[in-house]
Amino acid sequence: MRKGRQLGRWAVVIAVALAVAAGWALRRGPEAVESASSRAESLGFSMGTVVRVSAQGNRAEEQVAKVMAELDRLTPLFDRFRPYGDIAALNAAGGDWVVVTPEVLELLEEALRLAELSGGAFDPTIAPLVDLWGFVEVDEGGSSPTPIAGVEPPDPVELAEALTAVDYRGVEIDREAGRVRLVIPGQALDLGAVAKGYGADRAAALLRQHSIMRGLIDLGGDVYALGARPDGSPWRLGIRHPREPGKIIGIVHVSDAAVATSGDYERYFEHEGVRYSHILDPKTGWPAQGLASVTVVAPSGVWADALSTAAFVLGKEEGMALIESLPGVDGVFIDDELNVSVTSGLVDRFERFPAE
Ligand code: AMP
Ligand code: MG
Repeated sequence: MRKGRQLGRWAVVIAVALAVAAGWALRRGPEAVESASSRAESLGFSMGTVVRVSAQGNRAEEQVAKVMAELDRLTPLFDRFRPYGDIAALNAAGGDWVVVTPEVLELLEEALRLAELSGGAFDPTIAPLVDLWGFVEVDEGGSSPTPIAGVEPPDPVELAEALTAVDYRGVEIDREAGRVRLVIPGQALDLGAVAKGYGADRAAALLRQHSIMRGLIDLGGDVYALGARPDGSPWRLGIRHPREPGKIIGIVHVSDAAVATSGDYERYFEHEGVRYSHILDPKTGWPAQGLASVTVVAPSGVWADALSTAAFVLGKEEGMALIESLPGVDGVFIDDELNVSVTSGLVDRFERFPAE
C-alpha cells in the first residue's frame, strides 16, 4: 500500500517534471530560432565604391559575406577598364559578336529597355562622350587610366564625332547564343549609371534566397532597403544635400525598394562660372543642366539607378513626368536653386530635413 503510494508520488513527480520540461522545450522553440537569427554588417569596396551591407536573419554573417563575395565577382564584369572584363572586350571588339556572362546579358537587356523607356535620356553607349569630357570612371582595384579631370568643354568637332557613336539602338543582343555586338563604328558601353543598381538587386536577391528579409544594402548611395526596420516601420534613408557635403536635405521612407541618387556634385568641374557635371545629355553631348540631384525610389535597383540618371538628363519638368508615369516609381527632384519637388507617391513618405 505504502509502496503503491510512493510509486504514485514518484509518478506525479516525474509527470510534473516532464510537463515542466515539455513546457520549457515549447518555450525554448521560438527562442532557439531567435538565437540562430543574428545581425551582421560588413564594409567593403566593390563596383568602384564603398559598399555596406547589413542584415538580420538566419546565419546573417555567412550570408552577408556571400553578398560581399558576389559583388566582388560582378565588379570586373561591368567595369569597362578591366582588360579581361566583358564590357572591355565588347568595347574592343570592333563590332564583332562577343559572348558575355549571363549577368552582363541580363543587365544589358534591362539597360536597353530603360534607354527606350527614357527616350534615350539614359543611354548605356555614352562612353565616347564620357571620355571626351574627361569624366572617367575611377576604380582603384582595376587598371583604369589616371582620371582626367575635365578643365574645359571639348572641341565641338570632336564632340560631334563622339556623338555619332552614342545610340543605344546600335547594341544588338543575340539572346540564344548569349552574345552581344556594337554595330555603330566607335561605339562603346559605359554601365556606370546602372551597375551599382544591379549589384544592389543581386545582393537583395541573394539575401532573400537565404530567407533574410531585413537588411540594408548600400553601394555608395545606391541603396536597397530590404524589409522594414526591427520595429516594423519603413527604413528612413537620407538624401544628401547637393551643396553642403555631409548634410542631408531630406529623408525618404521605404521598404522593399531601391533608392538611387544622381547628383551634379559627384564628379564635375567649373569653367567660366558654369558647373559641368558627369551626367551627359546623349542628345546634345553636353552635361545636363538645371538640376542638382534626382533621387528615384523604384522596385528594382537597376530601375532606380537608370531612371535617376535619365530624369537628371530630362530636367525637372520632363523628368517628373516620366517618373510619375511609371507605377511604383517615385522621385525627389532638387534643382540648382535648391527647390525640392517630390512626385505624388512620395508626398507622405518624404520629410524635408531640417523640417521647413
Ligand atoms: P549616375 O551617378 O548613376 O547618374 O551615373 C553617372 C555615370 O553614368 C557617369 O559617370 C557616366 O559614367 C555615365 N553616364 C553619364 N551620362 C549618362 C547618360 N545620359 N546615360 C547613361 N549613362 C550616363
Ligand atoms: Mg544612375
